[in-house]
Amino acid sequence: MKYDYLIVGSGLFGAVFAHELNKSGKRCLVIDKRKHIGGNIYCEKIEGINVHKYGAHIFHTSSKRIWDYVNSFVEFNRFTNSPLANYKGEIFNLPFNMNTFYQLWRVKTPEEAQAKIREQVLKANIKTPKNLEEQAISLVGDDIYQKLIRGYTEKQWGRKATELPAFIIKRLPVRFTFDNNYFNDTYQGIPIGGYNKLIDKLLFGIEVKKGIDFFIYKKELEKQAEKIIFTGKIDEYFDYQHGELEYRTLNFEHDILEVKNFQGNAVVNYTDKNTPYTRIIEHKHFEFGKQDITVVTKEYPSESRRGNEPYYPINDVKNSRTYKKYEKLAAKEPNVIFGGRLAEYKYYDMHQVIASALAKFKKERETFND
Ligand code: FAD
Ligand code: UDP
Repeated sequence: MKYDYLIVGSGLFGAVFAHELNKSGKRCLVIDKRKHIGGNIYCEKIEGINVHKYGAHIFHTSSKRIWDYVNSFVEFNRFTNSPLANYKGEIFNLPFNMNTFYQLWRVKTPEEAQAKIREQVLKANIKTPKNLEEQAISLVGDDIYQKLIRGYTEKQWGRKATELPAFIIKRLPVRFTFDNNYFNDTYQGIPIGGYNKLIDKLLFGIEVKKGIDFFIYKKELEKQAEKIIFTGKIDEYFDYQHGELEYRTLNFEHDILEVKNFQGNAVVNYTDKNTPYTRIIEHKHFEFGKQDITVVTKEYPSESRRGNEPYYPINDVKNSRTYKKYEKLAAKEPNVIFGGRLAEYKYYDMHQVIASALAKFKKERETFND
């Protein structure tokens, strides 16, 4: 056979796996159905600004091993994500911290803020939170839930907050310090020169074919490689035999504006339910750009159908059950490794995708004869 491995998908999972295989002397072919490499972290340069074509991406991790790994390919800048929330024209700091509590209730000390939240939590009388709504109210009380969580969440997921799993909201920090850093992680930043640089370095020296959909050329492709690393949709791989896994998708509306600075921040969330988009991204601020113009993107969430991009796995009870069935089928395919956000059906961040790829590669390496 011509190749040892066929890697389906040039996103972070496929690129990290291919890099490690190539370093071990394996012959690899990477394909992607898109016309570019990088999957969802791909950026397009417009007027000198790296535009995150598939949504804003901020790298963050607490793992020194993963941080060192990405830094071995590209240097990172000091960007710290501190998004704002716009609720009906009023601005609040995120994540939920002393600045937010001051803006909402004019409380100035952690003790006052905690008392305010405690009062609202007691009133709600929730014993064990069973869904996102109950989880949110138990953490921050009803005022914040109504102004900063409910509208955003129901737009983002297209479901009532009472029908969503609690874990989605557990990603967000709640702190009683005046600290607007959206993440609790030790390391954070944006690759200097953009994410494409990271992917280019990972795939350096590896054969890549773009614009190739695995399912169209499956028969021929399978004959060319001993093993497959598959990072596309797992339900599609098994021809949807157990039904479709559901995803949320986003429609991105990109605009070039003839102003230097449109909103003064990289990310502004619109948390009311009537504004049809969830957030506006102003890309230049990720890299402290000084260009005369700016590029902004509005994100409109909707349900994903076959044919549009599946961005967010919906890890509710129904979909988790369906995924388990596909996972069992995957275990019966000895020559295929399934990995990444779509093949593992997980709401993974970039650092978690890299960790998963490195762990699966380590296991695969045990099968090498040398
Ligand atoms: P992908 O990047 O989706 O790559 C899969 C690739 O496979 C794609 O290029 C696709 O075209 C290709 N493919 C699929 N099917 C086929 C096929 N049949 N044939 C050929 N090719 C195929 N993470 C963070 O850490 N920080 C963030 O701020 C952050 N923000 C995000 C914002 C949004 C809007 C989204 C959607 C995700 C965000 N993430 C963020 C998560 C991050 O994008 C993922 O963790 C990571 O990029 C996933 O990499 P992957 O390789 O698993 O998947
Ligand atoms: N969320 C919210 N209000 C906000 C931001 C986030 O209620 O202003 C909730 C929402 O349910 C969202 C979840 O927190 O899906 C996780 O937010 P995050 O910013 O991590 O989402 P992502 O960047 O993955 O889209």
